[in-house]
Amino acid sequence: MFLHDQELPALLWKNYDNEIWNNNARKCLSCSSCNLVCPTCFCFDVRDENELNLENGRRIRTWDGCLLPDFAKVATGENFRKDRAARYRHRFMRKTKYIHDKFGFISCVGCGRCASVCLPDIADPVKVFNYLKEF
Ligand code: SF4
Ligand code: SF4
Repeated sequence: MFLHDQELPALLWKNYDNEIWNNNARKCLSCSSCNLVCPTCFCFDVRDENELNLENGRRIRTWDGCLLPDFAKVATGENFRKDRAARYRHRFMRKTKYIHDKFGFISCVGCGRCASVCLPDIADPVKVFNYLKEF
């Protein structure tokens, strides 16, 4: 089956409430490995580490990933994507619909790294996109 990348934003958006998000997310370990190996994922977090004397410290930047439970937690303690299925869906929406809306291209290069590291085998965009195309 042929699926053009420019079809993906509309296809994904049409399936925002598709059962696949909940069904696959039940198996998701929230490990974020799919984010960390992805060449187009760039999200990071910034943390402050204090020395015991409370006079010195350092500010460090670390990788972050949208599949991690605390990724969308804000300073007030609220988490606007605490549901695992919402986080799982967000990764696919981000790679296709949201980036395309802003820049006109999708942000998956089809390398398959995410598919190769996902233990429950639910991260492969090709499988998800083909399922939605045939749905
Ligand atoms: S296949 Fe796409 S989503 Fe997966 S790691 Fe490669 S670029 Fe990222
Ligand atoms: S989709 Fe797979 S690799 Fe990504 S967080 Fe879930 S279990 Fe981990």
